[in-house]
This record gives sequence, structure tokens and C-alpha cells, in this order.
Amino acid sequence: MRRRLSTLIAVLEVIVRNLIDLTGQQFGRWRVLAIHPERRRYGKNSKSIFVLWRCRCDCGVEGIVFGCNLRRGLSKSCGCAAHEATRRRNTKHGHAVRGQVTRAYVAWQHLRQRCLNPNNQDYANYGGREPPITVCDEWRDDFLAFHADVLDPPDGLSLDRPDNDRGYAPDNWRWADAVTQRRNQRPRPKRKTQRPHVSAHHRAADDFIPPPF
Ligand SMILES: [Zn+2]
Repeated sequence: MRRRLSTLIAVLEVIVRNLIDLTGQQFGRWRVLAIHPERRRYGKNSKSIFVLWRCRCDCGVEGIVFGCNLRRGLSKSCGCAAHEATRRRNTKHGHAVRGQVTRAYVAWQHLRQRCLNPNNQDYANYGGREPPITVCDEWRDDFLAFHADVLDPPDGLSLDRPDNDRGYAPDNWRWADAVTQRRNQRPRPKRKTQRPHVSAHHRAADDFIPPPF
């Protein structure tokens, strides 16, 4: 009987301790709005009772949070604070944010792919051609350096190299429309047709054009 009573008192103590009114208090981004009617039991024989609080985060999201997590600083926001910190860590500039990648960033990624990635479908005409089309050291791994030179592309224009035989560099770029780009392209090698192997001597003879009579 005694033991039962002491257990009961212990449980009541937990309840009272948890019932310290947190309403109106601020924990990180959480502001406590009101106590939540639900109680959760935890621990051995479910002796511990946890009180839940209805809170509103600075960002406007409401949530139900354990009082003990608020007091111990284990819950400081709806999750937006951690999310923002991750985004800050992963974003050195505002150009690569998922869903709103800028055209300048796409242009930089594509030129690197064409010139540096042998698995890219256009590599043969860029990094894989002779002499290869290169990306200058300043631009290769530094988007901000690239962007400082080329800025944002005007609508409808894409990145082009005025000198088609030289790589991407601060003195060999322009934003050009598709017509200009096509005019500037070197003639693509014609598709090889199936021809029986002939020696150089015979090929010369094939190409011989007789003088007009
Ligand atoms: Zn939030």
C-alpha cells in the first residue's frame, strides 16, 4: 500500500513538474500558444507523462511539441531553421537553388560537361576534338568567376565562342543567338559512307577532275 502510494506521488510529481505553464514563452523559433490536451505516457510501466504544447514557429507553421524538448532546447523550430542552415551550407551563390537554377549557371554547367566529361554526348565536338576545346582555369571550377565575366544571358541568347578553335575564356565568349552560332560552327565532318578500302594513290585518282575540253 505504501509503495503504491509513493508511486502515485511520483507520478503526480512528474505531472506537476510538466505542468509548469509554458504559454507565451519563446524557445528558439517556437512560441508556445497553449497546452495541448493530449498526454503521452513513456518509460517503465508508462510512469512518465509527457505534456505537449501547441506552438507556433516564427515562420508561421504550428506544431505540437513535447514540453521537455522545448525546455532542453531539443526542438527549436518547426524544422525550417535546420533546413535553412542546410541550404546555406550547400549554396555558395543563389544560382543553383533547386527549381530556380539561373540560365548563366546552366550555361556554365553545360560548357563544363561538353569540354570535360567524356560521357557527354557533345564531348566529341568539344573536349574530345583535336585540338580540344578547353575551359580556362579561372572558369573551370568557379562559377562566380565565370558569372563575373559573362553576367546573365540576355533573353534568347546562349553562350558562344567567337573564335571557334579556341576554348572558353574571358577573351573568347559572347552571348549569341542561334543563327549567329550556326554561322560560326565549323563544318561538321560528313558521315562516313561505306566505301571499300582504297589506297591513297587510287583515292587521288578518284578525286581527279578532268579538265574541260
Ligand atoms: Zn518554422
